[in-house]
Amino acid sequence: MNIKFWGTRGSIAVPGKNTIKYGGNTPCVQLTSNSGETLIIDAGTGIKALGDNLISLNPSKLNLLITHSHWDHIQGLPFFKPFYNEHYEVNIYASTNNGLDVNEIITRQLASAFFPVTEDIFKSKINIKKVPAKDNFNLGDFSIYTIAAHHSKGTLSFKIKVDGKTIVYMTDNEIFYSYSKHPEIISIKEKNKELVDFVKDCDYLIHDCMYDVRNYADKIGWGHSNNYSAALFAISANVKNLVLFHYNPDYEDSELDKIINDTNSLIASHNSNIKCIPATENKVIDL
Ligand SMILES: [Zn+2]
Ligand SMILES: [Zn+2]
Repeated sequence: MNIKFWGTRGSIAVPGKNTIKYGGNTPCVQLTSNSGETLIIDAGTGIKALGDNLISLNPSKLNLLITHSHWDHIQGLPFFKPFYNEHYEVNIYASTNNGLDVNEIITRQLASAFFPVTEDIFKSKINIKKVPAKDNFNLGDFSIYTIAAHHSKGTLSFKIKVDGKTIVYMTDNEIFYSYSKHPEIISIKEKNKELVDFVKDCDYLIHDCMYDVRNYADKIGWGHSNNYSAALFAISANVKNLVLFHYNPDYEDSELDKIINDTNSLIASHNSNIKCIPATENKVIDL
């Protein structure tokens, strides 16, 4: 199986010469099983290029998981080409968010004040399914488990089991710790118990890394993690590979290089074997 990153940036797309290495598009990740089935997670601006690619390959049925309806996770939906093709069936799985159901969220996104055409323009079959936290369901080769993230109400993280591997997609998640101090494992284990249990021993953890730990003090409670808390959380849960993801749109490539180096140094100082891999746009990880 493999994981492909079509969008890695948090909050807003920031294409340009200073974001070429890590990417400018907002979140969209594709998992492909050994038998060739596709699972899409999140519909940020990265889903535009993924949709173009899928149309060229011509699969007929697609499954899309959405963590939550903040703009950076749904911005690309109206530009997803399979919606405009009658041969496609797209199943969208998402939780209700602050009382709005997914149907309503998409209809509002396509309101005339924001978009020139209404949903009637879509030709594919679109099925929307509400998914709560602590749910478990199967989609072909993929077994999916959900948990509530430490973010806005209704935000989900997903654990996916496929081809004998376990991948956790946990972005827009704030790892809690004792804020009077630097993040440390004992405090992280204590304050994120359910999440640590959820990701325990997974092969790949794709996790929110919105902030450099040095810029985090005035962002506490904003629903995102820093590079140190994400790394110590991964160590606490004994994950094998940590993929840093959902970068602050203000960070240029050179700053992210430094964040990745610092994170690797922290992991080494804990004598951990975790491999820390930065998500970069168009990167493919073969498992
Ligand atoms: Zn986000
Ligand atoms: Zn969010």
